[in-house]
Amino acid sequence: MSFYSEEENIFQTSIDRFSEKEILPFIDSWEKDEHFPDNIFKKLGEQGFLGILIEEEFGGIDGDLKLAAAWCEAFAKVPAVGFTTAINMHSLVIMPALQRYGSDYLKKTWLPGGVEGSKIGAYAFTEPDAGSDLTNIKTRAVKDGNEWILNGSKIFITNGARAHFVIVLAKTNPEAGYNGYSSFVVDTTLPGFSVNRKLDKLGWHSSDTAEISFSDLRLPENSLLGDEGKGWFQSMSSLEWERLMLSLNSLGGARQCLKDTIVYTNQRKVFGKTLASFDLSQQFLADMKNSLQLSEASCHRSLGLLLAGKKCRKEVSLTKLFVCEEAIKVADRCLQLHGGYGYTTEFSPERWLRDLRLNTIGGGTSEIMARIAAKEIFQ
Ligand SMILES: Cc1cc2nc3c(=O)[nH]c(=O)nc-3n(C[C@H](O)[C@H](O)[C@H](O)COP(=O)(O)OP(=O)(O)OC[C@H]3O[C@@H](n4cnc5c(N)ncnc54)[C@H](O)[C@@H]3O)c2cc1C
Repeated sequence: MSFYSEEENIFQTSIDRFSEKEILPFIDSWEKDEHFPDNIFKKLGEQGFLGILIEEEFGGIDGDLKLAAAWCEAFAKVPAVGFTTAINMHSLVIMPALQRYGSDYLKKTWLPGGVEGSKIGAYAFTEPDAGSDLTNIKTRAVKDGNEWILNGSKIFITNGARAHFVIVLAKTNPEAGYNGYSSFVVDTTLPGFSVNRKLDKLGWHSSDTAEISFSDLRLPENSLLGDEGKGWFQSMSSLEWERLMLSLNSLGGARQCLKDTIVYTNQRKVFGKTLASFDLSQQFLADMKNSLQLSEASCHRSLGLLLAGKKCRKEVSLTKLFVCEEAIKVADRCLQLHGGYGYTTEFSPERWLRDLRLNTIGGGTSEIMARIAAKEIFQ
């Protein structure tokens, strides 16, 4: 029995069809060029795929997190985790945060274009000296009449070089502890916004990951996202979903990698027999299948808790820790089963291995996931 409803399964089929036509024929060249075209946002937008969690008033389809999860699992089959995550961050994390906390002005300014794919968003928490420990951020916003003056820099920002708007976490009152942070929606055409550089990376090649900075950037008062002093709590409130989204992405990617590998092991002949017919290969394939079944169960359990509005910080952290680590092991074993071919770019495991590697770092590292879970377990 499928975890997803008939309607959700139909939605997944439409994603597959779109990918087959608009993404899969081009993804290898996008990865090679280290860039995917902005136009793909518009194509996704035309199909309604960017507005899954956005209200109809702003052009979205007003779906729930289960539909978004169905999207994540299906879209994750595209063999470029940086690409799928760049899209997902925009549509499933950044726009929903803007919708949840933004004023009417901010929503009307950014959401319709975001859903259409003509406006692209980024989320900027991490700084050169603050990743796992975001309390250490230095970006500062100071009120000046009816404007805010923003100074600081952010690193590792997905869509950072192409974004039209960036949600930025800044300190507005360094003495106020967790109440001293605010979020701003920064229009990247404003003077004082710079893209310092795009980072060269092990994987995620077609996705832009940028260092951006703000130099005496004057923000109109209406750029504040929600209330002053609430930025920390807003940022933390979407983390569970973001972590589950990354887990589903790892699950779908590892699944596809295993699928490719099963085809390969059924074709490749060694010592006159197919690779799949060796006991040891079968053991590896069974272990990987088992690991993915456990990953799936963990993801769906966490999703169920999230959908029921239950407190699930520990459960989601354990899911991300397990699923993202297991996906790397699966990709690594799949590469091994391909022998020398696995080490080439002609077969999928090398990219899956490089790309899935990031999901144990982004959105909170495996060590931080273990720390969060342990805090609750041993309290
Ligand atoms: C390709 C890519 C895309 C990204 N996209 C975005 C984005 O769009 N927006 C954004 O804001 N950020 C983004 N990030 C940043 C990402 O979220 C951070 O890299 C991540 O949170 C880790 O922070 P850090 O790199 O500063 O590592 P650090 O915090 O310096 O950690 C270094 C190591 O120390 C370990 N460590 C830290 N604290 C502890 C502890 N208490 N106990 C045990 N071990 C610990 C970590 O687990 C890690 O292994 C992206 C990163 C990459 C590489």
